[in-house]
Formats: sequence, structure tokens, C-alpha cells
Amino acid sequence: RGEYINPAKQMTHGGVYDRSDKEMQYPWSEEVCQVLSNVFRLPGFRKNQLEAINATLSGKDVFVLMPTGGGKSLCYQLPALVFGGKTKGTTIVISPLISLMQDQVAHLIEKGIRAGMINSRGDLDDRKSMFRLLNSGDLSLLYISPEMLNTSGQLKSSISRLHSNGQLARIVIDEAHCVSSWGHDFRPDYKELKMFKQQYPDVPMIALTATANDRVQLDVMHNLELKNPAVFKQSFNRPNLFYEVREKSKDVLPEIRDLLTVKYPGKSGIIYCHSKMSCEQTASKLQQFGLRVTHYHAGMTPDERMDVQTKWQEGSLQAICATIAFGMGIDKANVRFVVHYTLPRNLEGYYQETGRAGRDGLYSECILYYAYRDASTMMTMIDRDECDFQTKEKQRSFLKQVVQYCENKTDCRRLQVLRYFNETFDSAECHKSCDNCRSSNSTDYEDRDVTEVAKNIIRVVRQLQNENVTMLYCMDVFRGAKTAKIQNANHDGIEGYGAGKGLDRIDIERIFHHLVTVDALKEMSSVNKAGFASSYLKTGGQASAFLSGLKNLTMQFPKKGTRPKTTTPRVSASSRAAAGSASARPKSSAKAVRATTKVAARGQF
Ligand code: ADP
Ligand code: MG
Ligand code: ZN
Repeated sequence: RGEYINPAKQMTHGGVYDRSDKEMQYPWSEEVCQVLSNVFRLPGFRKNQLEAINATLSGKDVFVLMPTGGGKSLCYQLPALVFGGKTKGTTIVISPLISLMQDQVAHLIEKGIRAGMINSRGDLDDRKSMFRLLNSGDLSLLYISPEMLNTSGQLKSSISRLHSNGQLARIVIDEAHCVSSWGHDFRPDYKELKMFKQQYPDVPMIALTATANDRVQLDVMHNLELKNPAVFKQSFNRPNLFYEVREKSKDVLPEIRDLLTVKYPGKSGIIYCHSKMSCEQTASKLQQFGLRVTHYHAGMTPDERMDVQTKWQEGSLQAICATIAFGMGIDKANVRFVVHYTLPRNLEGYYQETGRAGRDGLYSECILYYAYRDASTMMTMIDRDECDFQTKEKQRSFLKQVVQYCENKTDCRRLQVLRYFNETFDSAECHKSCDNCRSSNSTDYEDRDVTEVAKNIIRVVRQLQNENVTMLYCMDVFRGAKTAKIQNANHDGIEGYGAGKGLDRIDIERIFHHLVTVDALKEMSSVNKAGFASSYLKTGGQASAFLSGLKNLTMQFPKKGTRPKTTTPRVSASSRAAAGSASARPKSSAKAVRATTKVAARGQF
């Protein structure tokens, strides 16, 4: 397996001041290049870094979307040290995790940069001297937690004083998806950050995140009240990662053992589990195989967690069984595998978690163990949760997308995930770097003309689109779903209602998604009266070409009886033998089927 070059790591501008480069024709360009090489000691800029730096130094609001490890920090750390720009003074950085702040501040101080942090922890004397530094205006970067901003009047008045002295350079919102309740990691404290643009409209803001689809993006910009922000976006594809979904059999632990001992001996990885208890149990079972593995979750003390993290970072622990509390902001380049022991709660988090593999650009694997019974359990947990109806609906639809992803064994994994980020991906670019592309064998597939199906779908959408309906809803109408919501809506007069009755749910989903990529349908995000961004399905520019018969639709489908039921086991002979016939369902299938019926009857999946 060769070495892949991660596009996120390619330089787009040399670090040398070059007046012929159009991004280097600003009054501050020479200074920017000097700071890059003298302070950060970097050879050049990666994609969108210099563009974002120039935009913020011009005084614009900026929104940066870059995959994890792409180099977002430089986009605000470097401008904080450039004084030829339109703003001078202190940069305030809002960051969600104390460990993340500590890490960054330590790195900055090492480089001789005047940086500090104020958070709810830390001793009183330290905090006092930090306030003195801040008030003197001598600090280049101050990291604060959003809670601090909400609870400390002293902090607010210091910031206000900086502003009236003309020394509030810019506001940075790191991990900005936390602002959106549509995001996977919403933090209520982040909502208050809109006060910055309200109180200091002249101070530029820069928001950065690794994970945002159009809806989350719109929601973030709306909630922060950014003014005509310059948006920098790039492909989220990570070519060096291999994506795979495996059926979760009883033998999953020996399979993981083999991954650690046979395939990646001495190499590091993360095993994500869905609960604290599952982290501990999984870790202790792997320890019984003699593996250097331990657990990590929010129930441990900060010292315990720091200890585990350090041991893993230096390699004395091979893998960590962790909840999603682990990983944000951790900079370890040589993570070779990320395993999801239980299916993730949403695709956005999944992509972020798998994104921690292979930051060095080398081949790494992302393995998701999927069992329908796990999905049913999680669905029940959502039902039982105390949270409000809207939150539940959101969580259900997130989980449903994950189930769709796991069950779609036909389309390229990259195509499926990137679609969620509203990115069109050509599966030829995957180069067989996912289970579906690798196992796609042209003899198992056949072309089918689904023009009539497509027409009916487009008709349904055309008739419903003015009512602001979601894709999910249109699918249900097309299927003639027996849910109360659809039955009560009385769609009998709608042309195409129930036309998809005889079709496979997975195929219907694929056709809907495909119609979006060919612009027969489109998803539109908008902010509703309540301030929520939602995504609605509309007909696209090519809809009439299909309806009038100008265009046909042919798609590939697995031949009858060949739809793959299991992911090929490929770890060891022992686990293969133990699994018995590859197509046999696990023993617990009776229970799983019962769960399926129950859940399906409630129309959740
Ligand atoms: P992100 O916040 O986008 O996940 P970071 O800002 O933490 O990423 O950067 C990830 C790594 O990339 C860091 O080790 C950083 O030093 C490195 N890096 C950032 N920009 C450059 C660059 N222009 N050239 C080389 N390395 C860079
Ligand atoms: Mg970051
Ligand atoms: Zn693929």
C-alpha cells in the first residue's frame, strides 16, 4: 500500500513573499510571510489558510470549514501577530474544552507568543495576573471558555474596556458547530456568543469548524450574527482513510484483537464505545488478551484522563476504548485505526471521529461494527430520554441516517458521507478505498431503468414542495408509509402517493439521493420563524426534463438475491471459522427481527 498525499497537507502558497501571487498583494503580506517563517517556522500555507488570513486582516467576518487536522488554528493565530492589518490588539478565542486550550496555549508560549487563558479552573492568583495582563493590552491571544463569558462580569468588562481602547483585535469561535443545535455537539453556552457581534459590530469575527453541512453552517452564521462572511470551504474527502462497515457478530472482540496484534502490531488506534460502561467492559476484555488497552470517559477525574491520554500519545498504550468525549483537539498524527464498536449517533460525529485517523497522510482504517439490535436499543434510549420533542426528533433523524449508511452496501462510503456535507463526490475518486467500492463486482450488479420511479418521486415533491417538507417526509409519501403522520395527512389526491409501495426502502433512498445529485431535486436550507435552520426538499432545474421524457434514469442495482448481507470478514482464519457460514445471521436474530418489526411499525426507520 502506497503513501497517499492528503490534499489538506499540500501547500498552495510558498512561505516566501511573492508579489506576483494575488494573495500576497496586501499591505500586510510581507509581514504575514515573516511571521509564518520566523514565529511558526512553517514552509508555506495550506489550502485556504492565506485566503482566510487575508480576509480577517481586511476586517471581514470569516467562516472557515476545514477537515480535522487541516490547520485551522493558524488562520487566527497568525493574524493575532500581524499589526499591519486593520486591527490591532488582543484576539479573544472561544474554545469548548479546557484540555484543548491548555494544549494550544502551551504551544504558543513555546513559540514566544504572549498567550493566556481564563477558565473556570485554575487558581485565583493566576487568574488575577492574567486579568492584569489582559487589561494592559499586552496579550496577543486570550483563550476563554464560553461558560466564563456567561458567568464572569469581570471578564466582560475587561473585554469592553479593551474595545473602547481600540485594542480588541478580533473574536475567534473555534469548533463553531457547537453553536448550532443542529450540530452533533451543541453547547447551550455557545448561543450567548451572539453578544459579540451585537455589542462590537466593528470587531471582525472568525468562526471555524471541521464539521458542518449547509444547514449547520447557516445556523452557525445566523446564531453568531456574522455579517456577509467570507466563507472558505474545501473538500472534506480524506483519501488515505479506508472506510468499512462490518456486521457485528459475537466474535467481534477476537476480530479487534487481531486488528491490534496481526494487522497493526505496535500501532495506535481508538475504539469508540457508546457508554462509559461499554468502554470499561470492552477495555477489560481486550486486556485479557494481553493487550495494552484502557478506557477513557467523562466519568474519570481530569488527572486520570490526562494520564491515559499521555500514555496513548507516547505509545505506551496501544489503543483507548473511549466515549466521544475523547479526541477533540488531540493532535496525534499516526493513528492507524479508528473502530466504532457500536454504531455512532450521527454521521457528523462519525466523520469527525474517523477523521482522527491518519492525520500524517498515511493509510489508516475506519471500521464500524453495525448490528441492527444496537440501533434499536439506541432508538429506545432516545424515546426514554427526558429531553423535549424537537430534540428527540432531531436525534431520531440523525440515527436513521446512520442506519441508512450502514445498510447501504452498494454506494461508495465516501459518496454517502460527503453527500451529508452537501459535497458531490465521484466514486471513481475513491479508488476502491471503501468496502463497497472494493467489493463491487460488476457481475453482481445490473442496470435498471428507473425513469418511471423517478417521475413519480418528482411528482410527489412538486406537489408538496410549497408546504416545506423534508426529504424523509417525501419518501414516506412515495412509499405510502403506514405512519400516523402520513395517514392523517390524507394524501390520496397526490399523484405518486404510494407509488413506491413495492420497492425496497434502501433503493428508494438511493434514488432520492441520486435525483439530488442530478439536480432533479434539491435540498434547500432556510431559517424558520423560530430561528431554526431546516432542510426542505424542492424540485430542481432538471425536474421537467425527466417529467417530459427528455431524460431517463438508469442506475445500478444488485442482482436479485445478491444484495450483500454481510461485510466480508477478513481478519483471521480463526474468526472466520468461528463465524460459520458468512451469510448466516447471528443467533440473536430472532430478537433482532422482532425489534425490527416493532420499530418499523412505529415508522422510525
Ligand atoms: P485543525 O484545528 O484544523 O484540526 P490544527 O490547527 O490543530 O488543525 O493543525 C493540525 C496540524 O497541522 C498541526 O500540527 C499544525 O502545526 C500543522 N499545520 C498547520 N498549518 C500548517 C502549514 N501551513 N504547514 C505545515 N503544517 C501545518
Ligand atoms: Mg482545531
Ligand atoms: Zn468507495
